[in-house]
Amino acid sequence: MKIWFLTGSQGLYGEDTLRQVAEQSQQIAEQLPVEVEWKPVLTDAAAIRRIMLDANADDSCAGVITWMHTFSPAKMWIAGLDALRKPLLHLHTQANVELPWSTIDMDFMNLNQAAHGDREFGFVQTRLGVPRKTVAGHVSDPVVGERIMTWVRAARGFAEVRTLKLARFGDNMRDVAVTEGDKVEAQLRFGVSVNTYGVNDLVEAVDAASDAEVTALVKEYAEQYAVAPELLGERNESLRYAARIELGLRGFLEAGGFKAFTTNFEDLGGLRQLPGLAVQRLMADGYGFGGEGDWKTSVLLRTLKAMGEGLPGGTSFMEDYTYDLTPGNELILGAHMLEVCPSIASGQPSCEIHPLGIGNREDPVRLVFDAEPGEGIVVGLADMGDRFRLVANEIDVVAPPQPLPKLPVARAVWRPRPNLRTSTESWLTAGAPHHTVLSKAVGREELNDLAEMLGVELVVIDADTTTERLTKELRWNQAYYRLAQGF
Ligand code: MN
Repeated sequence: MKIWFLTGSQGLYGEDTLRQVAEQSQQIAEQLPVEVEWKPVLTDAAAIRRIMLDANADDSCAGVITWMHTFSPAKMWIAGLDALRKPLLHLHTQANVELPWSTIDMDFMNLNQAAHGDREFGFVQTRLGVPRKTVAGHVSDPVVGERIMTWVRAARGFAEVRTLKLARFGDNMRDVAVTEGDKVEAQLRFGVSVNTYGVNDLVEAVDAASDAEVTALVKEYAEQYAVAPELLGERNESLRYAARIELGLRGFLEAGGFKAFTTNFEDLGGLRQLPGLAVQRLMADGYGFGGEGDWKTSVLLRTLKAMGEGLPGGTSFMEDYTYDLTPGNELILGAHMLEVCPSIASGQPSCEIHPLGIGNREDPVRLVFDAEPGEGIVVGLADMGDRFRLVANEIDVVAPPQPLPKLPVARAVWRPRPNLRTSTESWLTAGAPHHTVLSKAVGREELNDLAEMLGVELVVIDADTTTERLTKELRWNQAYYRLAQGF
């Protein structure tokens, strides 16, 4: 994916000045933290409209960065900005860091006019209601660079969800409300296509895996994980069946071009185990996943995985499970029946087999580990009936205060900001779900940028949140998003 770099100016300056504008613009482009496709300086409405249409049409263009080096009368940007459907970042910078105080003359003043050129551009964007991120400062400033990179990562997530295909095996868990949602609206708003397959289509693929493939994959497990001796001995057939599920599931997803999926323990058809290990390993390879048919969380997971690609930290499907309410040291213990992604693991996961009371099948194989401590975020996606709402909570993942020798699933322990009381009161008031995505790779700024690109509400619970203010913010948002939809 590429980012295009567009520079605005006008014909009045004459060829000499425009040549300098182009040179300086190329120098700015080279200092950007991401490789960009530099485009010739834009000086008229027809060229601006054309390049925006080209950006829309080019699947390899993930977004557009604009900079008004000089004064670019903004009526000529109206048609282009109105047509643009790609993410937009308005970079408010200039060629020089320091002013040459002793030599500055009117030629310098006329060449370096971003201070008012970008104000003209800001006006027309706001007048048109164009969603964008504005980043101000010299391009060499590391803060500017990082803020550009968060937008680039969000643009990658946006591009991913625009063409994402999700396969659901079975429907939602019966009677559950929050995992429901409007799939037509999701396809319009996010782009993702969500479709259901009979679980026995998957069973066919699982049964079709060859013994040789199974043997090779089990060998890989033994190299990567601390595999329980019983799984290499008397219960080896269970591990082999877990490998068979992975081969079948991976093959099904690859053949259909799916990068996200859901399962439902109420609908396992001919599967002998609830998929645990397979789901965990597919998440680690970047796939989105949601349990109990939760396609919204699966979409969110794949999107955040795409945004966090190449960054340390990991991103996983998660569920708020239970609390430690010790006064002054309140914690959340998050996990799932089986499906937590090993990208967030601290140390080498162990591969184990234990009974599972739910699902009514053979004991499933799973990876067990604690999550690595550090700063992170949990994000949930809810369908409010007339729109989608993202809710995020900044958290600090901590080491479990004590070992958990009897808990046979992977888990994360965290302290929500600002504290458990305010966090949970806010989360519940926002109507946010129990399934989330936990990420230590991407944070609130990427989410903000993504929400802006998607036009989706985002509510953030952080160190400064109070329940009182958040309750008001939700009311204001309710009014804003209803009005913004029109009729
Ligand atoms: Mn669940």
